[in-house]
Amino acid sequence: MSVHSNLSVMAYGPGDLRMEKLPVPEPGLNEVQLQMNAVGICRSDVHYWQHGRLGSFYMKNPMVLGHEGAGTVTKLGPGVNHLQVGDRVAIEPAYPLNNDEFCKFGRYNLSPTMFCSATPPYHGQLSQYYVHNANYCFKLPDSVSSEEGAFIEPLSVAIHACRRARVKMGSKILICGAGPIGLLNLLVAKSMGAAQVVICGDSVRGDCAPSGARTGFGERPSAKCRHPRGGHPGHVPILQHLRQQWNGPYSNFRELGLLAIWFHGQTLRQKPTCYRFFEVVIRKPTR
Ligand SMILES: [Zn+2]
Repeated sequence: MSVHSNLSVMAYGPGDLRMEKLPVPEPGLNEVQLQMNAVGICRSDVHYWQHGRLGSFYMKNPMVLGHEGAGTVTKLGPGVNHLQVGDRVAIEPAYPLNNDEFCKFGRYNLSPTMFCSATPPYHGQLSQYYVHNANYCFKLPDSVSSEEGAFIEPLSVAIHACRRARVKMGSKILICGAGPIGLLNLLVAKSMGAAQVVICGDSVRGDCAPSGARTGFGERPSAKCRHPRGGHPGHVPILQHLRQQWNGPYSNFRELGLLAIWFHGQTLRQKPTCYRFFEVVIRKPTR
């Protein structure tokens, strides 16, 4: 394959995925051009492919998918001094477009002006060549493979979630959802000292979940407890399901005082008074 081609995975709309040759992008100020080595496929990519949207993010134009990537630096844009051609890097896919007050107090992830790979209107990383802000590319040591480098973004989500949930020695943890992020949360929670972890989902991966985890409901609570007005299953139904389960098989989780929920673009519609029922503190564990 020619080095001048840039074969990319483009989502055109619901169910319409194409391999397409795009121009090789050139790095601008403070950017690097990367030859991509490994890119994970996130559930959000699957949503854009199957539904053309993720929560409130709608694709208005064809979009290259992928935001969990690692690549090798092939060109430096002006102003880049901390990386060299040949460096392998892991990519932080989301960064603020303005140096606003959130950046100044160290919480750039909360900026309202975020760029994020493979989030409309921005292309993602499932290309042979991809250009990214060099300040959000992190050099990998030789001991870390590119595949492991691509896993750093989803792993960081799990670490952030467990920190937000204040997991510590002896914690009892309930994880709703046994996909890759749920399983990473399981591993991180165990490594932070959690004493008991229950994980539930559509198909709990039994081969992946034996490291001290009990498997849970056997089906996805949000699917079982759809919104009464027929809306998209969201996280309020998860709360309702937890309410039903609270005195059931998971009554030993009564001490659980804090519930970290991935809102995933959903709006929490229930009045805050219901949370007192659980004595639960809602903390958003993602960005
Ligand atoms: Zn992702």
